[in-house]
Amino acid sequence: MTTIEANLQQVRERIARSCQRAGRDARDVTLLAVSKTFDADAVRQAQAAGQRVFGENYVQEGVEKIQLLRSDDPSNPLEWHCIGPLQSNKSRLVAEHFDWVQSVDRLKIAQRLSEQRPERLAPLQVCIQVNVDGGANKSGVAPGELLALAQGVVGLPRLRLRGLMSVPEPVVGFEAQRDVFLQVKALFDDLNARGFSLDTLSLGMSDDLDAAVAAGSTMVRVGRAIFGSRPARVSSA
Ligand SMILES: *Cc1c(COP(=O)(O)O)cnc(C)c1O
Repeated sequence: MTTIEANLQQVRERIARSCQRAGRDARDVTLLAVSKTFDADAVRQAQAAGQRVFGENYVQEGVEKIQLLRSDDPSNPLEWHCIGPLQSNKSRLVAEHFDWVQSVDRLKIAQRLSEQRPERLAPLQVCIQVNVDGGANKSGVAPGELLALAQGVVGLPRLRLRGLMSVPEPVVGFEAQRDVFLQVKALFDDLNARGFSLDTLSLGMSDDLDAAVAAGSTMVRVGRAIFGSRPARVSSA
């Protein structure tokens, strides 16, 4: 068994335990494997261990991997999520190659993605990234601007709004982590109460996925616990 396969198994067990504690069905939590900074072979190892859904932060790097993996076996497509900060000059690459974008935080970029999504592809599946804790260096729409943005995004023809994503500042302890995630869950429930039909709450990473599952996350984005630690990265393009 490869290290990646063993790690994946452990993460799946961790999700199952967290779901059990929260009285939830483990099938309601999707594991997104965050392969940023790792090469196509790491993705192939995860794929061999049954993983189908992958996340990338850096557009160029992600597109290279998507193309490599697609040429391996076009009949067995993986699902790719863009989870990193979005720049206008990269939106076309995102619209043409990814299946999902989780980091939409302004209408302008959503409009570009919709215009640039090729007709031959399914609509781009979208989450709005919310900044609930005011982390200064964080992308994400402020809670007070979320409703207007969500209304704008649902009106775009080539996007399908699926839910919310958030990356809170790291805090220590299960309850503190869960309380921040619950703020995002409340925003999610509020949008659904207003008639949106969101099914995806993307919360939780290697260090806080247990608290995220307790708060109602339906998708955890896990990098290091699967692929190992990453080298520090200087630029973020
Ligand atoms: C890197 C990253 C992750 C994965 O983080 P780990 O701590 O490696 O699990 C999840 N979500 C986003 C937005 C990220 O940038």
